[in-house]
Amino acid sequence: MTVGRPRATVAAMNPYRPGKSATQAEEEHGISEAVKLASNENPYPPVSSVVEAVAAAATEINRYGDHGALKLRHALAQWLGVDTEQIATGCGSVGLLQQLFLAYVDPGDEVVYPWPSFEAYPVDVRITGGVEVAVPLVDHCFDLDAVADAVTSRTKLVVLANPNNPTGTAVHVERIKTLVKQISDEVLVVIDEAYREFVTADLGDPITDLLFDHPNVVVLRTFSKAYGLAALRAGYGVADSSVVEQIDKVLIPFAVNHLAQVGAIAAIAAEGEVQVVIGRLTDERDRMVSALRFDGWEVPDAQANFVWLPLGQRTNEIFPELERQGVVVRPFPNVGIRVTIGTPAENDRFLNTLRGL
Ligand SMILES: *Cc1c(COP(=O)(O)O)cnc(C)c1O
Repeated sequence: MTVGRPRATVAAMNPYRPGKSATQAEEEHGISEAVKLASNENPYPPVSSVVEAVAAAATEINRYGDHGALKLRHALAQWLGVDTEQIATGCGSVGLLQQLFLAYVDPGDEVVYPWPSFEAYPVDVRITGGVEVAVPLVDHCFDLDAVADAVTSRTKLVVLANPNNPTGTAVHVERIKTLVKQISDEVLVVIDEAYREFVTADLGDPITDLLFDHPNVVVLRTFSKAYGLAALRAGYGVADSSVVEQIDKVLIPFAVNHLAQVGAIAAIAAEGEVQVVIGRLTDERDRMVSALRFDGWEVPDAQANFVWLPLGQRTNEIFPELERQGVVVRPFPNVGIRVTIGTPAENDRFLNTLRGL
């Protein structure tokens, strides 16, 4: 029995299902010491200066935080070398994404993105009643010519996760520039760089190499992944000031909470220390890719903090068996599994479990 009259588009939606926690897997399968490599989290705690800043700010949470997150926006603008008016902050970068949809997508408007990609995109399409135009990947990579061809006069947004989640592949900013030049400048091109800090290939930088000449480009980044602040919910965007003005209107009051603002400011100051952690993770990622390829698995280039195993139908057997043996990864039924880079011991656990199947 459905009470009330939910919007048809919402009633038809599946709820968001986050990755299973290690504890949930342990209880479900009656095992101990499960490891979670399912949500692309940083396996290491944040650096101590960030933890201390957040802990100290906990005494201030009786008051509302700064809705505009002005101090954080200033710090981000200085860090990135842009104007404060070009900076948006959101409740994670998924919050900013939803703001972009709410501000730009009317029912019936089209949103184009390569697919498979980040599972939040179709959710936002449904929330806003937009029309999804999913452009298939080719060899696990974006086909940007096909993306350009898919853009019509009804298209409001093009969304590119670079590196892409779940495949981990990435494109150079020059390729995106070619796309941007092929399509109308009335279309916003959103580059979701949640994993940018893990990229070791030379990809250029859309803020310096693209945004200046193409104000319809929006760059989204986050403190959730490389900076290890997933639970704080601090994401940021760099865009034309008019885009920032529109999306700020649909930000839920105080959604960028006080602790998130304080933690993000401290994280910027700790960039050098965080780089060391990132280096550890990218070394482990490269080790995982080599080991998997050595074992005979097809693994595309990995530029984020996860590896992609395009297992096709075999996903449906291999995923549950890994989980039964205490290794929780992210399945994409009939397509593949995504495995987050954990600590060296966790990664070995995954590799050895896979070898034993
Ligand atoms: C994890 C992820 C995000 C979410 O980041 P938050 O800042 O935690 O909301 C955004 N985009 C992609 C592609 C992701 O994989």
